[in-house]
Amino acid sequence: MHHVRDVAERFDRGAQYIAGEQRAGTSGATYSVVDPAHGRTVLTYATAGPADVDDAVAAAKAALPGWAGLTPGERSGALQRLAAALDAQAEELARTETLQCGKPIRLSTEFDVPGTVDNTAFFAGAARHLEGVAAAEYSADHTSYVRREPVGVVGSIAPWNYPLQMAAWKILPAVAAGNTVVLKPAENTPLTSLMFARAATAAGMPAGVVNIVSGTGPVAGEHLVAHRDVAMTSFTGSTAVGRRIAAIAAGGVKRLHLELGGKAPFVVFDDADLQAAAEGAVAAALINGGQDCTAATRAYVQRPLYDAFVAAVADLMATVRLGDPFDPATDLGPLSSFAHRDRVAGVVDRARAYATVVTGGDDGGERFAAGAYYRPTLITGAPQDSEAVQSEIFGPVLAVLPFDSDDQGLALANDSPYGLAASAWTRDVFRAGRASRELAAGCVWINDHIPIVSEMPHGGTRSSGFGKDMSHYSFEEYTQVKHVMYDNTAVVRKDWHRTVFADR
Ligand code: NAD
Repeated sequence: MHHVRDVAERFDRGAQYIAGEQRAGTSGATYSVVDPAHGRTVLTYATAGPADVDDAVAAAKAALPGWAGLTPGERSGALQRLAAALDAQAEELARTETLQCGKPIRLSTEFDVPGTVDNTAFFAGAARHLEGVAAAEYSADHTSYVRREPVGVVGSIAPWNYPLQMAAWKILPAVAAGNTVVLKPAENTPLTSLMFARAATAAGMPAGVVNIVSGTGPVAGEHLVAHRDVAMTSFTGSTAVGRRIAAIAAGGVKRLHLELGGKAPFVVFDDADLQAAAEGAVAAALINGGQDCTAATRAYVQRPLYDAFVAAVADLMATVRLGDPFDPATDLGPLSSFAHRDRVAGVVDRARAYATVVTGGDDGGERFAAGAYYRPTLITGAPQDSEAVQSEIFGPVLAVLPFDSDDQGLALANDSPYGLAASAWTRDVFRAGRASRELAAGCVWINDHIPIVSEMPHGGTRSSGFGKDMSHYSFEEYTQVKHVMYDNTAVVRKDWHRTVFADR
């Protein structure tokens, strides 16, 4: 309870952060951030309207020449100080993240916050390694070189599942490359994005480099995407909203980076370490309540291991402790909102008509009635083309299906509109090699599922979107290359002028 009062005081000037100032939104509407573990209101704030988005974009535009004009070393210095500042408030960030999304404090403390600090430290270094191409004479008369330049003002839109990390993934590569940013967090989880932006200013980033507009998608989000002074939209969220954003961005021929949904397959071959695969599947299906775009959602298990795998997963799920997210012993907290919990429950309830719910499939009963809880759920017998196997559930739900030949296992894994992440479990190096080549996803794990590192790219294919977060590959999204060509001859009438002047 104490923490709720702290939050209300910390954000009493409003949930917008524009030109280095915290202030209230002017849409005329309010939104309440609700703690999904107890159903209590954490903060009611005035949401951003079009005028607030305009102000934030104007601040980002004004800050752009100064920020882009700094040396990479100077931008790196600000990012180094930001990493230290975030680390110094790690505990507060973790508590606020847990409060607004209900994720277990162990996850916030050991994953979300240190991951964000590490990302910040990575981009502090990467800012100094933006690659260019060596100057050379590609025509006898000219010297060419390539400049890598920022795109301009970036409008970013983030989801509610990992609010702090998503803010970091969007903001860091953009500002490291010299862009300025207006970020719209999900309306139900703006708090840690605001803390991140404030820390950026305190670390010496000029006002206007990082701005936050807290508000709804249709009002603040669409205005940000359509804004004429926003050069690029970087979006992480559902495929449906991604499509809508792409349509709006098309009007302005804007650059896009879309990190959309996923439905990651988890392929267990018959030579796999069964216990490792079962533990890996449960952890990868339940992390963050399954509200993870790379979570294991469809396990395909080769026939000889199938029954033992299902039994092991059911046993492991029964050991998972559902509970208050602030209790360090809790493995699985509530889902991030009551509405979302009800959506998850709807998919599982419909699945009872065509599949078997082996364990879970309910809200935990009376003891958990105050929160948006849902128990770890295992589904078997669902057909490949059913809703439970094809649609993104985004909850603690794993479907397990059998397969016979390797060909069949890989084909079933690829039979999905999504292509974000996948894993293969085998002790055979050739099977592992084949799976890594043939699984259609932006990331393939071998004998693991979930880990990420700042140095490596994250991003999807097909309906999971395009473009990369993290790593130096993200600079491809947030920079544009310019070819500069110098004449080296000082000759007035150049050879190629004959195409126009002929023999005159
Ligand atoms: P969502 O698409 O509903 O919302 C995401 C963001 O878009 C929110 O900030 C929301 O306010 C905004 N938005 C909604 N409608 C909009 C509109 N018309 N115009 C502009 N912005 C709009 O998604 P969600 O439910 O918040 O998040 C869950 C989804 O995010 C899942 O599909 C998940 O897979 C995906 N996700 C993907 C990744 C990835 O890296 N690929 C990471 C995390 C989450």
